[in-house]
Amino acid sequence: MPTPFFDTYQTQYDRIVAWRRHLHQHPELSFFETKTAAFITDKLREFGLTDIRTNVGGHGIVATIRGAHSGPTIAFRADFDALPIHDEKDTSYKSTIDGVMHACGHDGHTANLLGLASTLIQHRAQLHGNVVLLFQHAEEKPPGGAKSMIEAGALDGVDYIFGAHLASDLSLGKIATRKGPTMASVDAFKIQLQGRGGHGARPHQTIDSVAVGSRLVTHLQQIVSRRVNPVEPAVITVGSFHAGHAFNIIADSATLEGTVRAMDRDVRALLEQEIRDLLKGMSYADHMDYTLDFTHGYPVLVNAEAETAIVAELAAQTFISVERQIAVGADDFAYFLEQRPGSYFFVGSHNDDAKTRYPHHHPRFDFDERALLNMGEMFLALVGHYLTK
Ligand code: MN
Repeated sequence: MPTPFFDTYQTQYDRIVAWRRHLHQHPELSFFETKTAAFITDKLREFGLTDIRTNVGGHGIVATIRGAHSGPTIAFRADFDALPIHDEKDTSYKSTIDGVMHACGHDGHTANLLGLASTLIQHRAQLHGNVVLLFQHAEEKPPGGAKSMIEAGALDGVDYIFGAHLASDLSLGKIATRKGPTMASVDAFKIQLQGRGGHGARPHQTIDSVAVGSRLVTHLQQIVSRRVNPVEPAVITVGSFHAGHAFNIIADSATLEGTVRAMDRDVRALLEQEIRDLLKGMSYADHMDYTLDFTHGYPVLVNAEAETAIVAELAAQTFISVERQIAVGADDFAYFLEQRPGSYFFVGSHNDDAKTRYPHHHPRFDFDERALLNMGEMFLALVGHYLTK
C-alpha cells in the first residue's frame, strides 16, 4: 500500500531542500534561535496553518492541524538549534555564521517537518484525528527546550509522540528502531575538596587534597565496577582534576569535574546516590570537607514497546528496518517519552560519498538530502496508521 499523502510531500522535495539549505546557511545557537523560529512561523502561516503557538517554553513552536474527522492526536517533533562549531565544508550552502554550524542535522529535521505541515494541511479532509507539530529549540544544550515546552503545555491533548534523527552512521534507505532504553541519561558533577595545605615534608600536619582526590577517582570507578550490575551500562568519567601549584607544598584544595551516564533510570539514581555516599564516607575517614554540585541533564530515552513495534513494521514496508544499538549519546526527546507513549527512531543519511559519512558534530558533517524524503515518508506512514481509515 502506498504511503498516504507521500505524493504531495514528494512534489515539494525541492522546496524542502531549499528550506534545509537556508537554515544551514543561517544557523543559530541553542536558546538564541530567534530568526529560525521566525522562519518556521512564517512558513507555517504561508501554508495556511492558523493554530500556531509561538514562544512555547522559549523559542518553541507548537502548530496543530485538525483533521475533518475525530480521532487520536499524534505529535511529531523536530529540533532546530545549531552548534558552536566552525563549518569547514566546501559547499554552496555552508554556514554564513563564523563558529556556528548545523552539524547534527537539525536543519534537516526542521525542513522535513515543514514539508509535513504543508502536506497535511492539504489533506485535512481525510484525517481522522489531529497532528501536532513540535518545533523545538535548544536540544544541544541542557536544560534543553523539551522540558520547558512540556511545562508550557506542548503535549496538551497529545496521545502519541514521535521523533526521528538523521544518522550518518546508517546508510540511506535504512531505518533503525529500538524498544526500551535507547539513549543515555547525562548528569554532571563538580566536587571541591577542601583539605589543609602545608609543607611537603610534614604531611602529618596537613590534609592532602591530591592524595584524597586521587583515591576518590579510583573509588568512583569502583562504583561502576562494584556497585552496578555488570549487565547494565554505566559511565563515570572524571574529565578534569585540578590541585596544587608547587612540588613541595601539599595542596590545600582540589576540584574534580565529571560526567555520569546510564541507560536505566534506576542505575542513574544509584550512581548519584553512591557518589553522594562515597563523598560522605571519605570526608569522615579523611577529615576532608567537600562540596558537591550534581547537575541532572537529560534522562534516559526510553522508547515505548508498542509504538516502536509499529514504527519498525511501517519501516519494513518501504525501507530496510534494522535494530538500533544502544548509544551513550543523549537527546531531550527523552522528556517527551516520559510523558507520552511513542518512539524516537533513526533515519539513515549516508551514501557512498565520504562527505556524508562524517560523524555528527564534526565540522564537515553533511548528509544525503534524500534522507529527508525517507523521514517524511516514515512520518506520513505513521499518520496513515493512526489517522486514516
Ligand atoms: Mn542532534
